[in-house]
Amino acid sequence: MKPRLLFAHLPTPVEAMPRLAASLKGPKLLVKRDDQTGLAFGGNKTRKLEYLMAEARDAGAETLISAGAVQSNHCRQTAAAAARFGMGCILVLFGEPPDPPDANHLLHYLLGAEIVYTQRDEIESTIDAVFEKAQSDGRKPYLIPYGGSNPTGAMGYVNAMLELAEQKAEPDWIVFPSSSGGTQAGMLVGARLSGYSGKILGISVDEPAEALTNRVAELATQTAAFIDKDWGFEPRDILVNDDYLGGGYAVMGEPEIEAIRLFAQMEALLLDPVYTGRAAAGLIDLIRQGFFDPTETVLFWHTGGGPALFASKYQGRLI
Ligand SMILES: *Cc1c(COP(=O)(O)O)cnc(C)c1O
Repeated sequence: MKPRLLFAHLPTPVEAMPRLAASLKGPKLLVKRDDQTGLAFGGNKTRKLEYLMAEARDAGAETLISAGAVQSNHCRQTAAAAARFGMGCILVLFGEPPDPPDANHLLHYLLGAEIVYTQRDEIESTIDAVFEKAQSDGRKPYLIPYGGSNPTGAMGYVNAMLELAEQKAEPDWIVFPSSSGGTQAGMLVGARLSGYSGKILGISVDEPAEALTNRVAELATQTAAFIDKDWGFEPRDILVNDDYLGGGYAVMGEPEIEAIRLFAQMEALLLDPVYTGRAAAGLIDLIRQGFFDPTETVLFWHTGGGPALFASKYQGRLI
C-alpha cells in the first residue's frame, strides 16, 4: 500500500479478559496487545513509525525531530526508531523535567536522543528553530508530527484494522484512548477497507469531544485520500467520549488508579496512568452504567505507555 519499514512485532495478540469481564458482570471483553509492538517497550506509535520511518528514509533523512511532553511515549518510540536505524534524534519536550530523569524521560536519554526543553506555548516556534538549525548544520532533519499523527503515521492503524480482520475477532466495540487522533483516524479508514462493522469509540484523554472529533474527521479524510479513497469523514461519524478528562492531561485520579489496579490484578495487564488507565476507567464506568449490551463483545485496544508507571510523580499513589 505505502512504503513501510518492518520492525514492529506483528500481529499483536488478541486475548480474552475473562476475569475482568466476570468481575464487572458486563459484556465479553477482549484486549488487543499493542503494548507488545516490540520497539523499546512498544505501544501504538511503533505502528505509525513503520510508515514514518520509510518516508524519512526515502527523503534521505539523517535526523528525526519530534516533540511532546517530558514523559512522551511517542518521543520514546521515535528515539528508539532513530537508534535502530542509525539516525540522530532531537526531541523538543515541554513540562517539568524530572530530576533525575525517570520512566519515559530516562529512556529518551538512554536511547541517545538530544533533548531541547521548552514551554508548552512555545513548542511550535522551538520546533521551527530546532529544525532550521539542524538543516543549516547539514543534518538532514525530518519532522515527525506530534504523536506521529499525519496521514503517513495513521497508516499504521489502517493496517492494524486489516490485521484485526485477519484475526477474526469481530468485536461489536473497539475502545481505546484517543489524543492526537492518528490512531482513531487510521482505525476508521482501516475499518472501511476491511469491512469492520462494529463501533470505534475513542475515550478522549485531554480534549473536549468537539475538538477531537473535528481533528479525527479531518485526519481520517486526509488519510483516505492518501490511499486514493474519496471518503469524507464528518465529525458526526466519529465516536468520542470526553466524560473522563478528570483533572486534565497526565493527572492521575481515583478512576485511573482503580482501573490500573483492576487490570493488573484481574488480568496481569499493565496500564499507564495517562492514556490506557484513563480509557480503561472510562470502559469500566460505561460497563457499570450498562452502556454495552451483555451479549456484546468489547475489545479494549491497549495502546501501550507502560513505562510511565515508573514516573516518580505517580509513585506511592498506586499501591
Ligand atoms: C499517543 C498515545 C495514545 C494516543 O494515540 P493518538 O494516536 O495520539 O490519539 C494512546 N495511548 C498511548 C499509550 C499513547 O502513547
